[in-house]
Amino acid sequence: MKDRDDYTGALAAVMRTVRSHIGEGRVADYIPELACVDPDEFGFAVATVDGDLYGIGDHVGTRFSMQSITKVFTLALVMSRSGDSVWKRVHREPSGTSFNSLYQLEFEGGVPRNPMINPGALIVTDQLLADTGNAVGALRELLCAEAGAPDLYEDALVAQSEEEHGDRNRALAHLMTSFGNMHRPVAEVLDHYFRQCAITISCEELARAGLVLARHGRRADGSQLLSRLDARRVMAVMLTCGTYDAAGEFAYRVGVPCKSGVGGGILAIVPGRCSVAAWGPGLDAKGNSVTAALALEAFTDITNCSIF
Ligand code: GLU
Repeated sequence: MKDRDDYTGALAAVMRTVRSHIGEGRVADYIPELACVDPDEFGFAVATVDGDLYGIGDHVGTRFSMQSITKVFTLALVMSRSGDSVWKRVHREPSGTSFNSLYQLEFEGGVPRNPMINPGALIVTDQLLADTGNAVGALRELLCAEAGAPDLYEDALVAQSEEEHGDRNRALAHLMTSFGNMHRPVAEVLDHYFRQCAITISCEELARAGLVLARHGRRADGSQLLSRLDARRVMAVMLTCGTYDAAGEFAYRVGVPCKSGVGGGILAIVPGRCSVAAWGPGLDAKGNSVTAALALEAFTDITNCSIF
């Protein structure tokens, strides 16, 4: 499906599917500042590899907290700079536990199951700090360039709120330090991690940023961030580990690599075709946005773009 009319029609159908569910789910409040968002918002945007952009709802101008969606981009940056070495410090298997679980990390010797859960992402941020000296700065630079939005910043209140309620992440980081797997000081890594998660973005901007994966690693300026093989690997990790403990359900229902965040956003990639950003603040019991998941399911069904 390439046609403008086809996409426009598909998005109208997505809206019809989602409309009566807007407001469903529970807005994350374990980071209190995140709970300030309007639960009735919903946005959806599609950026195609041909350069077209489509959207519905609050898809432009309204920014939301990226949270764990940033984990895809920090992983891509680290793979582009340090190659395979990060895989000595983090595995690539679904965790089957919550994204901030401590007991599995203890049991498995301080090596996180994958880079999409918090301990794995903390290792990636630690590595990105070693690679660049400024992890959040490197991430911002990449996102601004790929989204075509030079003014993407972290929301300082969200970052501070997470810092004030970040004992679980602190515990994960200290546990990994005790196993020798966290190299830089915990406070420094957490500062960058909290600020990275607090970056805000609109659906339209996120869809554009995700094109770097949909284009198999090629950046907006034509240069290559990742080899085709590494882009494929990042998307494989998204598919198997990107939607908390519901990756099997997402593969079944949506059928493309996705990464969600507790801000209610989900980034989905249709390799070679388009990048899709969906956002609705209300989360289901597994932590994925109710409306974003429904919208993505409807979209891949209507446009027949599941990878399976
Ligand atoms: N900043 C959040 C945390 O560390 C990210 C969680 C998420 O979006 O999965 O708890």
